[in-house]
Amino acid sequence: MAYVINDECIACGTCIDECPVEAISEGEIYTIDPELCTDCGSCAEVCPTEAISPAE
Ligand code: SF4
Ligand code: SF4
Repeated sequence: MAYVINDECIACGTCIDECPVEAISEGEIYTIDPELCTDCGSCAEVCPTEAISPAE
């Protein structure tokens, strides 16, 4: 299971530096590669819009 970024993302870029495995990619809305994400939760803690959460 990976974390996912929803459409609350404002592309601020804060999360990308927090990811230890470089699973986050830039874009209009940032995205997480589920193959790389280790479910650590670091990105979710720093997101100002709470756009990142564990996948259901
Ligand atoms: S949960 Fe951890 S490994 Fe997954 S994208 Fe966020 S910072 Fe990276
Ligand atoms: S920290 Fe949140 S709002 Fe900022 S780029 Fe990442 S997901 Fe988007």
